Amino acid sequence: MQDRFIFTGYRTTCYKCGVEAEQVIKAVPYQAQVACSHCGATRIFIPRIEDVSKPGSYTRIGCYDLWNLESGATCRNCGVTGPHDLSIGCSHFTVRCRNCGFTHFYKFNLEYMAQCPIEETGQ
Ligand SMILES: [Zn+2]
Ligand SMILES: [Zn+2]
Repeated sequence: MQDRFIFTGYRTTCYKCGVEAEQVIKAVPYQAQVACSHCGATRIFIPRIEDVSKPGSYTRIGCYDLWNLESGATCRNCGVTGPHDLSIGCSHFTVRCRNCGFTHFYKFNLEYMAQCPIEETGQ
């Protein structure tokens, strides 16, 4: 699918099961999600704002660790494929193009437990 925007992972202690496991991170223009590869706890984020911004403009204090990651993606604004900065907290998920500053801001929407493993569980 062409609409896959971000697909990456981050190994950390899961807030749900407490096990250090790969957290699978996916984002497309209409949704972003973070899923624990161990227990399947999945958080869904929905888009709120898309704008050109300065780094950290939409970063808020979260209720636990803020993850700052980098992932390659193709920007919908400038069309350049290059590094994007990801900032993921408990209530927000932002993806920012490092080339033009175009930022997708997603807000936490819901959480569920997936029974089926997400692809590439590594278990
Ligand atoms: Zn977990
Ligand atoms: Zn861009």
